[in-house]
Amino acid sequence: MRFAEIEGFEDVKERLIKSSGRNHHAQIFYGQNGSPNLSLALAYATYINCESPAREDSCGKCASCIKIDKLIHPDLHLIFPVSSTVKVKASDAISNNFIGEWRSMVLSNAYPSIDDWLSFYGAENKQANISKEESRQIIQKLSLKSFEAKYKVMLIWLPEYMHPASANAILKILEEPSERSIFLLVTNDYQKLLTTITSRCQLVNIRLFKDEEISAFLRKNLGIEKERAMNIASQCGGDICEAKRLAEDKISDSGSLFREWMRLCWNGDFTSLITWADNYQALSKVQQKNLFIYGISLLRNAIISGLKISELVRVNTEDFDFAQKFGNSVDANKIEMITNHLDKAHYHIERNASPKITFLDLSLSIAKVLKS
Ligand SMILES: [Zn+2]
Repeated sequence: MRFAEIEGFEDVKERLIKSSGRNHHAQIFYGQNGSPNLSLALAYATYINCESPAREDSCGKCASCIKIDKLIHPDLHLIFPVSSTVKVKASDAISNNFIGEWRSMVLSNAYPSIDDWLSFYGAENKQANISKEESRQIIQKLSLKSFEAKYKVMLIWLPEYMHPASANAILKILEEPSERSIFLLVTNDYQKLLTTITSRCQLVNIRLFKDEEISAFLRKNLGIEKERAMNIASQCGGDICEAKRLAEDKISDSGSLFREWMRLCWNGDFTSLITWADNYQALSKVQQKNLFIYGISLLRNAIISGLKISELVRVNTEDFDFAQKFGNSVDANKIEMITNHLDKAHYHIERNASPKITFLDLSLSIAKVLKS
């Protein structure tokens, strides 16, 4: 992974490159799910070991770059949460026994979540962790001399899943760092780590993506056209995993679904709304939530449509027309009430309320507001 492969984040990249001459032996790459914390850590590991790095990036061509790119460099040690599976018994659940799967996942998806990982190796609904046994492996790996690299890198993905015994083993190593060994802790939640660990690490804070970075990523990597890319970017809250899910999600064109649904509510067509509730139930949870998020952002646009057209640049033509018409025929108070209903329903769906009942209940409330 080279820095150039990560869209945006020029400030973080520059800071990492600048610090690369005097590498701190332990660094926390902290960013929420959907941020490029893992890819930045990998790009950094590539950079510090590159045989002929340029000012702004690794060369991508030397033996070290190629091996790290494929995640097969002997001095790049990868630790991540795992669990037992049908094939692997609990005592064998250590990173080494899953390295092939982890590699394949990261090579095909540089922004994985823990759920992506668990479903990738067939352990959905299992409790993954970085076990006590793993700490022995960590110590053993670090006691080896580096084979060929400038720096031996121990990258721990999601250290918040560490068993306390592993955490203590790592603490010992952090207290007596071996020369030319670097720890990269890639976390979604550094507050869950022991303060004795965090206090010995340098924190690299990584924000979520900006809308324009998401949009550029979608266009470049998934060939999505501009308008749709911007549309998705405005819905995913900077989370690139969510953006990819939305982009791959062809059935849920939230825009047309929402417009049609509002028409049914407007007409008080309850027979159709009951059928719709069944269809809504059949959507994935992400799609269910997206419909509401989309509605909220569209209605917000309906309120401001009369005020500032420039605010509407993110909206496509059909949504723009809809927002304008809706804004003209429904007063701001009512729109506010509908938005609150959507917001509440979103909250319930997130907490696993019945989708069908939530949807029906919401449709009735919206119809009532529109009729009043
Ligand atoms: Zn290189």
